[in-house]
Amino acid sequence: MVRKFDYTPLLGWSISRYDTFKLCKRQYYYQYYPKSDTEFGPTKIYTLRDLTSVPLEIGNIAHEVIKTLLKRLQKTAKPIERDRFLEYAEKKTRDLSRKKVFSEVYYKETDAIDPETQILPRVSAALSNLIDGPRLPWLMEEAIEKKDEWVIEPEGYGECRIDGQKAYCKVDFLFPVGEEIHIYDWKTGKRDDIKHSKQLRGYVTWAHFHYGADYTKIKPTVAYLLPEYDERSVELNEFDIEDFADRIRSETEEMYEYCDDVAQNRPLPKEHFEMTDNLRICAFCNYRELCGRENAGSSVEEDLPF
Ligand code: SF4
Repeated sequence: MVRKFDYTPLLGWSISRYDTFKLCKRQYYYQYYPKSDTEFGPTKIYTLRDLTSVPLEIGNIAHEVIKTLLKRLQKTAKPIERDRFLEYAEKKTRDLSRKKVFSEVYYKETDAIDPETQILPRVSAALSNLIDGPRLPWLMEEAIEKKDEWVIEPEGYGECRIDGQKAYCKVDFLFPVGEEIHIYDWKTGKRDDIKHSKQLRGYVTWAHFHYGADYTKIKPTVAYLLPEYDERSVELNEFDIEDFADRIRSETEEMYEYCDDVAQNRPLPKEHFEMTDNLRICAFCNYRELCGRENAGSSVEEDLPF
């Protein structure tokens, strides 16, 4: 049973929050404190925050379709009809992409995004790799018995406590098999072993906190859906988790230093949140309009030696 928390304004660690903090303090400010900005105001910042991109949307749609697939497996063990499943994914791709504003269009890198050629082929490839791969038959054989205990993209942000510290680690899919708890995280982007292994540690602590399971019984896996299906798992023990908790504590404290009032999570004035000097980061940032770095992408290209 997932434990619930009363709301408090205190800052909570998450992997994406700390990654943004390390990448660019100004991006972190816009992303997490839009209401504090009096220069541009929250409405403008929310508009930019909500921009998507082609790679992001491929991941979002694949996650959405996998969520539906797992919920369907929970209802009936009837085999999945491949063609119907991929037709559903096509429809979902069109529906979801139509509703989004793409940063590539907003920043005039292209006139429009064509979901049929720019999104659908990769979504279809990712989902085909999943349903043609070994994991679904295994799931139907080994995990179906306890299907009522499956947790599929739980509501909320995945709040938990890591050694007493507020943190957020949201799992994609958690299910029991015998005495073990398995956690799956679907990826459509590039492999990043350092980042993903940190994420897996977060999932283990989340599952331990909510289910009280022994660390050695929690089996987290990153499932790469592209270019072909591949998995990476880690075995963790309580010493790994102690190290992880120490790291979360020091990362949280680093972020606290940018708070004027930690308990209320009120930020220091914006000028304390420096803009990065690295234009390669700006080239992919949704807020580049606010920093006068709309052309960061082309200046990076001009810098290239060939
Ligand atoms: S455009 Fe660059 S400096 Fe501005 S928030 Fe984004 S990454 Fe930071």
